[in-house]
Amino acid sequence: KEDGRNTIRFFNPEMQAVVDAHARMEIGLRETLQSGGFRLFYQPQVDRHGRLAGAEALIRWPGADGRMISPAEFIPLAEDTGLIVQIGQWVLSTACAQIAQWQQAPATRHLSIAVNVSARQFHQADFVEVVHRTVEAAGIDPSRLKLELTESVILGDLDETVARMNQLRALGIQFALDDFGTGYSSLSYLKGLPFAQLKIDQSFIRDMTQDEGSEIIVLAILSMSRALGLEAIAEGVETPTQREFLRLHGCEFYQGYLFGKPLPIEAWGDFLATASG
Ligand code: C2E
Ligand code: MG
Ligand code: MG
Ligand code: MG
Repeated sequence: KEDGRNTIRFFNPEMQAVVDAHARMEIGLRETLQSGGFRLFYQPQVDRHGRLAGAEALIRWPGADGRMISPAEFIPLAEDTGLIVQIGQWVLSTACAQIAQWQQAPATRHLSIAVNVSARQFHQADFVEVVHRTVEAAGIDPSRLKLELTESVILGDLDETVARMNQLRALGIQFALDDFGTGYSSLSYLKGLPFAQLKIDQSFIRDMTQDEGSEIIVLAILSMSRALGLEAIAEGVETPTQREFLRLHGCEFYQGYLFGKPLPIEAWGDFLATASG
C-alpha cells in the first residue's frame, strides 16, 4: 500500500519479478531510443546464382555488457507499450538512408532493403503518410524498399490492410509476407493482397531435409508462389544441402547463415564484393 495507488503488487514473487523486469526493460528501451543507441544489422539476400540481391534490416539492442539483446526478447514489449512505433520509425529512416547510400554507386544501386513492420506500427492512422515522407526525405527509389508484414498484421482488419498496402504500392513500395506458413492466412487472402514476395519460414527450411511434412510444405509453397506470380525466398538456409534442394525446386531467393549472418554495414565488405550491378 505504501507504494502508492499506481503500483501494482502481486503476492506471487515470480509474477512480481516479471512485472519488475518488464518495467526495467521499458525504461531501457526509452533511454536507448532517446540516446540513439539502437543498431541496425543487415543480412544478405542472394539470388539462385549466389549474387547479392539485397538485405533484411534487423534491429539490435546493445546491452550494458556489450552483448546484443535479441529483438525476439524486446519487440513484444515494445509492441505492448507502443514504443514500437518510434523504434520502427527509426529503423525505417535508417534503412532508407542506407538505400540512398547504395543508390549512389552503380555496383549497389539495384540492391533492396527489407524492413520488418509490426502490426501496431502498420495500423497507425498516419502510417502511409509517414512512410511516404521518409522515402521522400531520403530521396530514394521507393521500389528498393520492401516492407515485411507477418500474417498477424493482415488479420487485424483486412479491408484497411488492403487499402493501405495499395496506397503504398502506388508509391512503388514492395511487400513481402514474412514467416509464411506459420500463421493462418489462406490462399484467398494472398490472392487479394499486393505481395511481391513470400518468405518461407525458417522452421520449414530447418526440418525440410529430415522431415517429410516440412518438405511437402516447402514444395507446396514454392509451387503456389509460382502459380500466383510471387517470388519465393527461403529464410534460415544454413547448409548446401538445403540450398541445393531449394534450387532444384525453383526457389529464387535465399537468406541464411550459409550466405551470411546479420552484420553492421561497416562489416559488409565481403558481401558487397559479390554485388555486380
Ligand atoms: P524475422 O523477420 O523472421 O527475421 C529472421 C530472423 O532469423 C532473424 O532473427 C535472423 O537473424 C534469423 N536468421 C537468419 N538466418 C538464419 C539462419 O540461417 N539460421 C538461424 N537459426 N536464424 C537465422 P533476429 O534478428 O533475432 O530477429 C528476430 C525477429 O525479430 C525477426 O524475425 C522479426 O520478426 C523481429 N525483428 C527484427 N528486427 C525488427 C524490426 O526492426 N522491427 C520489427 N517490428 N521487428 C523486428
Ligand atoms: Mg523479417
Ligand atoms: Mg521471418
Ligand atoms: Mg520471425
